[in-house]
Amino acid sequence: MLLDYNSLLLAVGFSAACLSITLFGTWLAARSDRFLLTWALSVLVVVVEVFVYDAYIKTPGSALGVLTLGLLLFGFSVMLGAAHQFRTGRSPLPRIALGAGISFAFTLPPMALGYDGLGFITENFFAALLLFGTAYEYWKGRREAPVHLLGIAVLYALTAASFVLCSAVLALNGELVLGHAPSNWAEDLSLVIVIASMTGIGALSLALNQGRLARHHKREALTDALTGLLNRRALFDAHGSAPVGAFTAVVLFDLDGFKAVNDQYGHAAGDEVLRGFAEVLSANLRPNDIAARMGGEEFALVLKRALPEMVEATAERIRLAFAARAVETESGELRCTVSAGFAFGSNEGMSFDKVLSAADKALYAAKRAGRNRVLDFRRAG
Ligand code: GH3
Ligand code: MG
Ligand code: MG
Repeated sequence: MLLDYNSLLLAVGFSAACLSITLFGTWLAARSDRFLLTWALSVLVVVVEVFVYDAYIKTPGSALGVLTLGLLLFGFSVMLGAAHQFRTGRSPLPRIALGAGISFAFTLPPMALGYDGLGFITENFFAALLLFGTAYEYWKGRREAPVHLLGIAVLYALTAASFVLCSAVLALNGELVLGHAPSNWAEDLSLVIVIASMTGIGALSLALNQGRLARHHKREALTDALTGLLNRRALFDAHGSAPVGAFTAVVLFDLDGFKAVNDQYGHAAGDEVLRGFAEVLSANLRPNDIAARMGGEEFALVLKRALPEMVEATAERIRLAFAARAVETESGELRCTVSAGFAFGSNEGMSFDKVLSAADKALYAAKRAGRNRVLDFRRAG
């Protein structure tokens, strides 16, 4: 034999053990992505299988044979479950049960009855199916990070193909009873492919997970926790530097007498009112409009391709819808109103700060004029 099969096999076991530990550690660090735990478990099962298989090579027998086949198919079923969990966030259990159930039913009885050759043919076949299924899960989820996920899908598919070869070579030999572990060029090739793929899949997946965490943190940093709207920072990230044209408007809203709401009904009721206002805002947006909570009880809208009448109508609709809303509290029904001011950019392009401060002046004028109204900066005086 060209390759020392046993050393290679132990190398697989060793690198799989490292991968399992890394996955487990990554899961421990964030505790967010449960699929990492499922995956770490699947790789751990494969590690145990490698050592059982090593023992089987030295002393073949149906008990060890059933154990090694069962472990491999169970490990790959859990891997399929982990891939599904990664893509959908749903439980991996149905796929684990189905994958292990079907593959056990076709593989373990022949092995237990002494038809080890047949057992290895079906084992390799079902291992390939499970790995193709895993590749398909990553392929279906490829939109999240195309390069990484396509790479992972290809590596799983390649590994699956190597198991198909093993199955085919054994089937062509036609020996239903072997009496020893299969040993042929396909087995050697498969082992090499497994080592290469596992290393590649491990590296790609960890990079993928890093990307996921980074995106998660970024989204958190740009979202207002109470209302789920963008926060002030996100609004400035999106608009801070670009000049504002004549058909883009900024509307600033500030709830009226909100300090009194807190004093009278409590902070929790105040929070409820803020969430309610965010709902009203969201319900009155066109797809490209942007709503943000600027802080406290102050909110902003950025409306593009807008004319003054339309902006005023939108702000009025929001004002009326909010005034009509009531929050039930322990100390009775709570109603609140909102004042708004809006301003446009200019043909030459105005800085976002300037438009914001013009809208703020209009808002201030609306407050002075008695609250619960909308004012245009150009008519605010
Ligand atoms: P005006 O009509 O002039 O706007 O009066 P106001 O009482 O709304 O204005 P003021 O700015 O004095 O009060 C704002 C209040 O908003 C003060 C603060 O306690 C409250 N507030 C700020 N952030 C939050 C929050 O996250 N939750 C709650 N419940 N209250 C908040
Ligand atoms: Mg205020
Ligand atoms: Mg206020």
